Amino acid sequence: MEQYCEVIVDIAHANVDRLFTYRAPDDVRAATGSHVLVPFGAGNRTREGFVIRVFGESELPDRDENEPAVVYKDVLRLIEPYPILTSEQIELAYWMQHSYHCLLVDALRLMIPAQMRGGRVREKIERTVQLADPAKADAQLISLLDKSGKPRSQKQYEVLELLIKTKLEMSVSDVLAFVPNAQSAISALIKKGCVTEGGHVTFRRPDYGGIGQDKRVVLSREQERAIDAITAAMLAKAGTLLLHGVTGSGKTEVYMHAIEQCLLSGRQAIMLVPEISLTPQTVGLFRERFSDGIAVLHSRLSAGERFDEWRRIRLGKARVAVGARSAVFAPIENVGLIIVDEEHEPSYQSESTPRYSAIEVAAHRAKSFGAPLLLGSATPSLLTYFRAQSGRYKLLELPSRVQNRPLPEVEIVDMREEFLAGNNGIFSGRLVQLLGECVENGHQAMLFLNRRGYSTFVSCRSCGYVVECDNCDISMTYHKGENRLRCHFCGAAKPLPRVCPQCGKPFIKYFGIGTEQVEEQLHALFPDAVTLRMDTDTVKSKDSMQAMLSEFARGEARFLVGTQMIAKGHDFPNVTLVGVVAADATLLIPDYRSTERTFQLLTQVAGRAGRDESPGRVVIQTYSPAHPAIRFAKEHDYKSFYHYELEQRKKAVFPPFSLFVRILFSGDDDQALSSAVSDFAGQLHAALVETLGENDERIILLYSVSPSPIRRKQGVYRYQILIKLLRTARLSDAIQTIYTFASGHRNELFAMVEVNPQDML
Ligand code: ADP
Ligand code: ZN
Repeated sequence: MEQYCEVIVDIAHANVDRLFTYRAPDDVRAATGSHVLVPFGAGNRTREGFVIRVFGESELPDRDENEPAVVYKDVLRLIEPYPILTSEQIELAYWMQHSYHCLLVDALRLMIPAQMRGGRVREKIERTVQLADPAKADAQLISLLDKSGKPRSQKQYEVLELLIKTKLEMSVSDVLAFVPNAQSAISALIKKGCVTEGGHVTFRRPDYGGIGQDKRVVLSREQERAIDAITAAMLAKAGTLLLHGVTGSGKTEVYMHAIEQCLLSGRQAIMLVPEISLTPQTVGLFRERFSDGIAVLHSRLSAGERFDEWRRIRLGKARVAVGARSAVFAPIENVGLIIVDEEHEPSYQSESTPRYSAIEVAAHRAKSFGAPLLLGSATPSLLTYFRAQSGRYKLLELPSRVQNRPLPEVEIVDMREEFLAGNNGIFSGRLVQLLGECVENGHQAMLFLNRRGYSTFVSCRSCGYVVECDNCDISMTYHKGENRLRCHFCGAAKPLPRVCPQCGKPFIKYFGIGTEQVEEQLHALFPDAVTLRMDTDTVKSKDSMQAMLSEFARGEARFLVGTQMIAKGHDFPNVTLVGVVAADATLLIPDYRSTERTFQLLTQVAGRAGRDESPGRVVIQTYSPAHPAIRFAKEHDYKSFYHYELEQRKKAVFPPFSLFVRILFSGDDDQALSSAVSDFAGQLHAALVETLGENDERIILLYSVSPSPIRRKQGVYRYQILIKLLRTARLSDAIQTIYTFASGHRNELFAMVEVNPQDML
């Protein structure tokens, strides 16, 4: 019987985002999930495609006898011998297409390493050699000697002798390790018929960092209880659990035990961590516990490594996938557990098409496999904790640090008082004192400030003029190192003005501190102490970040100054002091989440202190010491923070009680953009009202059409429709209406629909 298949061609265009039927010739063993080459379009250009379904002749659509027979084109060949997609992944892609209104092919592309498309990465073949005929080998060795008994070619002699000794097939690289520079000798031996060559597919493995001794600890009662609950959920094959554990409470140990239980039951696991905590430290821990059973997926891998780690999972050689956001698509066929560490991290939300939430995708996959989903955090997102409180998620708690180590003591310094007392520097007296003690005791300190550069804005004291970017509506930051002003949106640079460009007077002043200034001041205070600075200016590549972190971990620097890059996950035992230079920086961001984000950030940063035997101290400098985000962070009191913040959100009907949708527009012509946006907004509003009906129209709590807060970015104007919807049963209908309307009214001005946008600037 003839085989046919439905293929989606790997072209991201709405017009061809559908299935095309091809015939699979006998020698092309296409299966669901196969990666194939097919002729496509009128010119029959060769294209890559994914086989979505294979079926027999009998299932071809019926046709009228009078019509001419349909001629199906043939699949040309398979690209990989095995299907690269599982049926579950195909189902997942359909679900994403529906949930995020993306192209099916865009969703499918997420499931495989990017370089597999277009054949930009291949399997690595390890060349091997072995004796052609072991029985004749000794005679062949002798024939390599001259009359005086000396080898005519020393290298050939050594290679042959080595192979006789080992009697094994050896990789060429191993042979070369014993006999350096023997490439041509090997070729000569092959030519003479003494040696035959072969090859094996090998897996390029990333360097996971030092594989040391697996450290087994005695679990605490709370850790055991958490693991029992997760094991029970695995047996029940369902459920979402939230592991709420303070910083340093041993969550990672719980994850690893849960994964062990999962593997024992014959199933496999996925663990997501934020990219930034994929340090050699974390990866090393997993590698020590699970050895070759894990595969790691993150952005620092080379194309070959990524492909091979992916293949080790696909071919069942690795049973645990650990990685950042995109590892949620790991091609595991029998998922028994999915873990999302630091679940509150915004990086789980994709910022490019398809704009998926890795946590939602994880929840969907977990459900299809009958696996529990475990979310973990010291500072769960409000929504997650809300669900745990309402019983939708099972709450597991680790309320104290391991071995009853104390949480660091947090002191708040009111910078207004410092100023009144005559200190107008960036460090309070208390912080300077503690930094000094740190130096004396040989400990290390971290200083956190969420603003890079030297001064965050430059303005004229006389007329108030602020230097802004020519392309964007934001003030420019002074970077002392390069002695220029820079835009943090588009990167544009400008020289420093000597006089005010507006009033011509020479009263240009620099305001607002950035990490560069912190580093400089620290150096002025402690000229002998080595300081490292980590922010996007000093960390140009992922590798330089790792290098800096290891340098600090090895104690080669006394101080580490940085932006939120240093806030997460790192475990530096010798850090006893953490200073937050200005807690206000994140509080002042105009967003309903800024209180939550500040609390999370302060708690995470504070959590870096005192993780080992010596207790830790944290100093938070602020101009608003009474702010709840700061007060509750000082007390390490997540629950009170949660209740306070939830009450605020309830009053203002902010998420989780409602949901924001933003539709962004951009264009060169302000006027044209503005009128196009009002048209769009009017029609969309009508469509929403029609869907919801008179009764449910009230769930639209806000419908605003305006220029974005940052009206111009990188030279283009930006407008937005901001919609706030009450969380009711009709919410998803409203969102579907917005998506459907938007995809039906796509034009060059319309940028995107964001459900639950990460920022509203
Ligand atoms: P978290 O992720 O909750 O911040 P970690 O999992 O990093 O905490 O644990 C902090 C440290 O405590 C790690 O060095 C870990 O090896 C250690 N640890 C975890 N559980 C125990 C335990 N039961 N006994 C002793 N040490 C532990
Ligand atoms: Zn700019």
